[in-house]
Amino acid sequence: NPVPDQLARVVVIGAGQAGLSVAYHLRRLGLVPGSDLVVLDRGPGSGGAWQHRWEALRLGAAHRVHDLPGMHAMGLRFDDADRSRPARDVVGEYYRRFEQHYELRVRRPVAVTSVTRVPGADRLCTTVRTPDGRTSRISSEVIVNASGTWGTPFVPWYPGRDVFAGRQLDTTEYRSAAEFSGQDVVVVGGGTSAIGFLLELDGVARSTRWFTRRPVVWSDTASLDLESAVAAVDEQDRAARTGRVLPSIVSGTGIPVTRRIRAGIDRGTLVAAPMFARLDESGVVTADGEHVHADAVVWATGFRADLRHLAPLRLRTAAGGVVVADGRSEDEPRLFLAGYGPQASTIGANRAGRRIAQQVTDVLAGTA
Ligand code: FAD
Repeated sequence: NPVPDQLARVVVIGAGQAGLSVAYHLRRLGLVPGSDLVVLDRGPGSGGAWQHRWEALRLGAAHRVHDLPGMHAMGLRFDDADRSRPARDVVGEYYRRFEQHYELRVRRPVAVTSVTRVPGADRLCTTVRTPDGRTSRISSEVIVNASGTWGTPFVPWYPGRDVFAGRQLDTTEYRSAAEFSGQDVVVVGGGTSAIGFLLELDGVARSTRWFTRRPVVWSDTASLDLESAVAAVDEQDRAARTGRVLPSIVSGTGIPVTRRIRAGIDRGTLVAAPMFARLDESGVVTADGEHVHADAVVWATGFRADLRHLAPLRLRTAAGGVVVADGRSEDEPRLFLAGYGPQASTIGANRAGRRIAQQVTDVLAGTA
């Protein structure tokens, strides 16, 4: 039972939309950042996953980031942001100003390597590592995990993935279309990342081909259809409460057809074929047996919750998920998961912040 290097009341793991929202509300409820409340992030800068997203990504109709609570009081709104600048720069800058304004004292880059129970005490221990290799431990009454999904991209297995001689990359490895200049590129996946890549590659790559496991569902409005979003969020909530692996939100909402997307559909860039049967050395082979030459295959096939550091708590169910109801782990009542499941959007993360902060203070007060 090693002696901790620091005692805190609450540790928040991750300073993306979810972690910042929780930290903001906890501070309002009286916790002091830096001592009572320790916010940790392994990223080099502010912005959560947004700081790592590809250069060409802009905030706009498909990528709408909700304002953090307390941002309006600072005179900041994402809707007023300069849309000609990369989303990663805009979000990074806004979050940085937010952290400074509310003095949240985020510690970075600090990676949480494990979370364990402290034997004989109602506490959890967070072990962290800094880039110089030093480790230390923080003991706290509660942990709010807000580690997002960017660290665990999901790439499905298809026969021949180990045979293909070209380049394979996932969404987190995509930098810009220029890397694929003059190449034949296959893009896999039915979400907004795949669509963004195809539009960006159009005219830069020699050819693009698009494959999706399920037919793409277009929503005929230019913004997210609220009714189907509610259904998708409900489905996420059911999955979280029963410990299943979470479905993608976008798979339930449909993709809003912006003007840019409409033009891509009309010129044939955004026409998806059913998923190919296999890869071979020089490309992919469709279900009909057509060989499609590819220099690169981009797997824009989604993400899973990045919970690797929670493994010592043994919370995974046989169904592959963690049982979470209203942001709280069913099996470890000192652990909250913000931005998980139904909260996995910037608006969900915002709402979660308030609800989780309230529940956390109830636990601290011994009333929950
Ligand atoms: P993140 O922003 O991923 O933040 C998690 C933080 O935790 C990171 O900063 C990371 O460094 C840190 N972390 C992780 N593990 C550790 C560890 N072990 N130790 C220390 N720190 C750790 N949502 C929208 O609402 N609008 C959109 O337009 C939109 N576009 C998206 C586009 C893509 C390509 C993807 C993948 C998602 C998109 N989303 C969008 C969903 C998006 O993930 C959420 O909206 C939101 O930004 C996620 O916030 P978060 O705080 O949960 O996670």
